[in-house]
Amino acid sequence: MNPFNIIKNNLKFAKKIIKKKGSLPIYMIFEPTSLCNARCSFCYNWQTVEDKKNELSLDEIDRFTRSMDSKLLALALSGGEPFLREDLPEVINIFNKNTAMNHLSIPTNALLPDRIFETVTKILDVYKKRFVVLLSLDGIGKDHDKIRGIDGIFEKVVETYNKLSRIQSDHFEISITTCLSSLNMDKYLKIYNYVRKHFPGLSTHNFSFMRSRPPDETVKPPDQQFFQENKKKLQEITLDNKGYQFDILGFFHSTKARYYDIACKTNKDKKRDWPCYAGQLTAYVDCYGDVWPCEIYKKFGNLKNADFRDIWFSETAEKVRSEIKNKNCWCDHGCFVYINILFNPIEYFKLLRYVKR
Ligand code: SF4
Ligand code: SF4
Repeated sequence: MNPFNIIKNNLKFAKKIIKKKGSLPIYMIFEPTSLCNARCSFCYNWQTVEDKKNELSLDEIDRFTRSMDSKLLALALSGGEPFLREDLPEVINIFNKNTAMNHLSIPTNALLPDRIFETVTKILDVYKKRFVVLLSLDGIGKDHDKIRGIDGIFEKVVETYNKLSRIQSDHFEISITTCLSSLNMDKYLKIYNYVRKHFPGLSTHNFSFMRSRPPDETVKPPDQQFFQENKKKLQEITLDNKGYQFDILGFFHSTKARYYDIACKTNKDKKRDWPCYAGQLTAYVDCYGDVWPCEIYKKFGNLKNADFRDIWFSETAEKVRSEIKNKNCWCDHGCFVYINILFNPIEYFKLLRYVKR
């Protein structure tokens, strides 16, 4: 991709670094389905994964994205397993038509290699901007099968990677995400080295942290000792990634490295001392049409009864926004922390120490 076009496409969002009040979201996480074919012992979404009723239809998605009447910097799908939604290419086409997003990311448990390959191919026929598929991989071989609750899922990840590798391009990338919990945190370096050797075409290997409410209560997020002992290594690994093709000057990787500082401190303090732009710059929309500032805090409203703008600028939303501003909540959720770093000018000085190119 031409670096000039990358800068031009993204520059229009830079004004949000200064002015956020009254903003429509520029980064959206959308859950196309709550269905999932895996059974991960750490899943934060396990209470809804079997509940298909009332998912937003294509018409409803079209209506709500048109009613936003704004452009997105990035669209990230979540789930459930996004590729279980059979009309996923149509969902992406609708977002592309109505929001012209510059970046698209789809995470997957990779259990359906053929369907994933076909769906990605269809999306690529139409969507020509940056697109990344994130394969989940939490262990090697049987370790991964056990964590994800499905025999043979490790081999499916390998198969999906091999299929998608054939269609990688300058705008389509493959990443791996490893979700760290008490089940695998002592093995993350082993996983990292394995991935480097066996998945050579990856753009990045990301490490995230499990969230609360797992079905198996014995599974815990990494503790403070883990953060203290491993933060520097995780930062090194992040900066060592081959890199997103659009990551001019290594800026985005620096953001990811800085993320570990924030996650470590927030976990220790059990509160945050940084501003969160969820509900201003970021939005989460679940498959039933509920609109949230993020996947964790309080709901703004439902799209089946109202337009996006009416919900986003409602009294309820304003009240929740002011709670977030007053730091009534905290989390170390990477997706939101990255945006909070990227759009906070004070953070730029702290990023300098990580910019290596
Ligand atoms: S973590 Fe993701 S892949 Fe695993 S059960 Fe939950 S929704 Fe499915
Ligand atoms: S700090 Fe976390 S929980 Fe609170 S609004 Fe931001 S993303 Fe949501």
